[in-house]
Amino acid sequence: MKQLKLWINNQWVDSQGGRLMLVEDPATGLPVAEVFDASRADVDAAVQAAKTAFYDGRWSRLTPAERSKAIWKLADLLEANAEILARAESQNTGKPYEWVSLGADMPFAVDNLRFFAAAARDTHGHSAGEYAKGYTSIYRKEPVGVVGQIAPWNYPLMMAVWKIGPALAAGCTIVLKPAPGTPVTTLMLGELIAEAGIPAGVVNILSGGNDTGQALVEHPDVRMVSLTGSTGTGKKIMKTAADTLKRVHLELGGKAPFIVFDDVDVETVAECAARTATFNTGQDCTASTRVYVEAGRANDVIEALVEQMRAVKVGRQWDEGVTMGPLISAAQRERVQGFVERAKASGAKVLTGGAAPAGFDAGYFFEPTVIVNADQKSEIIQSEVFGPVLTVNTFKGAEEAAALGNDVLYGLAASVWTQDVGRAMQLSRELEFGTVWINDHIPLASETPHGGFKQSGFGKDLSAESVNDYRITKHVMIRN
Ligand code: NAD
Repeated sequence: MKQLKLWINNQWVDSQGGRLMLVEDPATGLPVAEVFDASRADVDAAVQAAKTAFYDGRWSRLTPAERSKAIWKLADLLEANAEILARAESQNTGKPYEWVSLGADMPFAVDNLRFFAAAARDTHGHSAGEYAKGYTSIYRKEPVGVVGQIAPWNYPLMMAVWKIGPALAAGCTIVLKPAPGTPVTTLMLGELIAEAGIPAGVVNILSGGNDTGQALVEHPDVRMVSLTGSTGTGKKIMKTAADTLKRVHLELGGKAPFIVFDDVDVETVAECAARTATFNTGQDCTASTRVYVEAGRANDVIEALVEQMRAVKVGRQWDEGVTMGPLISAAQRERVQGFVERAKASGAKVLTGGAAPAGFDAGYFFEPTVIVNADQKSEIIQSEVFGPVLTVNTFKGAEEAAALGNDVLYGLAASVWTQDVGRAMQLSRELEFGTVWINDHIPLASETPHGGFKQSGFGKDLSAESVNDYRITKHVMIRN
């Protein structure tokens, strides 16, 4: 079993009064690592390290080229250690190892860091001009300062990279807290950060629970808090941050509509809906969750979808050909099961799935599930389930499709399936979501901004926009 300490000032350190926490493998329920639940004193030590590193300029006053070189080196080290990191990530999350190592997580995290290394060299928005007679104005884009970053459990290492990448590119120093159940790979990042030549105190990593996060948000020396997590946590953090008037950057929950017009290839649509509803066991903020089908094609789409969901290969992370692992914890499985039971009690019908699959005597597995006849206003359609569960409803015409798609509190991602370009463009305007895909669902690139509208939060991850979110504009005015 791994034992990992806290990472402060480029060193492993013991906690000051924090208790130990066990971290488990969700495919077996067995412990795989022991970490600290960082205390308020640990948060203060990490913030002081980040503050010293920020104000003495060991990172913020490097040239963009020097910062870029170190971030690029970190990407190379991630790539060189991809196998060991992927094994640890699979074990800590239950995700299929093949995916983590070759598919989604590792290759994308490496590419993300290379993008941020490049973005570090675009210092963005510098301009000078004579806007008042006899004066020259200069706009400086400066790093915000010490940032507190709080991550979720669904893509632990990738979320850590999405947090530290833009903040490092901007010149900030960081205290990063992974989710309590999935800290292993984020802590392992510490040694690679030091090896990449990123100076001590620039990135500090604290394992810990919600109280550790709360202490970080309250800390008066932290200038900005960036959270990826649930909408409820986002609201709490925004309230707490108000006391010290911190900048907040919130990537929150989602409830993506998947809108299918009657002019599509049914098999293509069903394959994509099933794949993106079960990707990461549905624990993805952009997962397809609400399928809306134009009434005339509903039966064909539902039939193909049920077939595709039944074909998803559920299994342990190390088994070959597995496309869906377990949910992250016993509590998460109980939560997902609760949503399904309440949907059934309110009159919805489960066409496939809806329970733990047979053949697993341990772990938190759940069957890919398709639900029909759920009321638009019901909980299963309005709330984020964060499991492999799809609802299917029907619509008549583009106007109703947009209205149903928008009829939730969330606004992170949506997709529209049609051969009619005019209709696709109309829906892309009318849907209030940070990302709208046309004839696909879920792809992302390091260059593309990712972030929410409405109660999915604000601020962007990935893209040059995310780097700018960690900068603050200073106006320097010179009398000529
Ligand atoms: P969560 O909100 O329970 O926890 C997220 C993080 O916040 C954890 O590290 C947790 O310890 C910390 N936290 C909780 N309460 C806190 C508080 N009061 N003060 C400070 N920190 C606190 O979310 P989760 O269950 O870990 O992750 C799943 C959620 O994340 C889903 O809602 C999902 O949609 C969302 N998510 C969003 C995106 C996106 O890009 N928008 C990406 C991935 C996940």
